[in-house]
Amino acid sequence: MTTLALSGVAKSFGRVPVLRDVSLTVPAGTRMAVVGASGSGKSTLLRLIAGFEHADEGEIRLGDSMLTAPGRFVAAHRRGIGYVAQDGALFPHLTVEQNLRFGLPRRRRDPARVQEVMELASLDPALAGRYPHQLSGGQQQRVALARALAPRPAVILLDEPFSALDTGLREQTRQAVIDALEASGVTTVLVTHDHDEALSFGGQIAVIAGGRLVQSGPPAAVFDNPVSTEIAAFLGAAI
Ligand code: ADP
Ligand code: MG
Repeated sequence: MTTLALSGVAKSFGRVPVLRDVSLTVPAGTRMAVVGASGSGKSTLLRLIAGFEHADEGEIRLGDSMLTAPGRFVAAHRRGIGYVAQDGALFPHLTVEQNLRFGLPRRRRDPARVQEVMELASLDPALAGRYPHQLSGGQQQRVALARALAPRPAVILLDEPFSALDTGLREQTRQAVIDALEASGVTTVLVTHDHDEALSFGGQIAVIAGGRLVQSGPPAAVFDNPVSTEIAAFLGAAI
């Protein structure tokens, strides 16, 4: 369990500022849901934390290690951070088991770890030999989570992991994912445009608008006391 902390993070693409002065702390072993409209900078935020993009300004720290700072950039594969994309991004030509093995460093391809993460993500062991196209969308997302958890990362980043699922499956998949995250005690950041999803993720929430983090705290506090009418309207809250 490790605390993730961002301080004064900024990112522009060309001349277009996408994130400005983002500071955010996710205490070790807790969950944070960042909610914002489409285009507000959510995926960019996760890509900066993962090390897929360089920040223009600011610092990203994981526990005692500085990942991103002026003059310092730790490569993505050395960060100890797992990332789950919106569509899961499983390898289509590999079975579930092979996908999960791929998540493990070569020297630690422990078969027991594959079983362990399948159990953690509530995946039936009978699915091990199937290919991604033979799974439901919810099963695919649980395999993607299991693959990200396999190397025991300090942090998991989830980019709208449930948005492609239909309503019934979404609820069930969300609960399985929350259970797996809780059992592994990993520090987690989820981003979503869906305020219900943010509110039910079971951690702190932060609201991002126009590339700025405008409010954060426990869901009830943010929902009951939105800082602006725009945020209230976005959250569907009364003001
Ligand atoms: P969200 O995930 O909240 O929908 P994104 O972080 O994907 O938002 O994008 C925020 C803004 O940054 C959008 O206007 C998007 O077009 C722009 N953007 C994202 N990635 C790039 C990129 N690699 N090059 C140029 N513009 C980008
Ligand atoms: Mg996005």
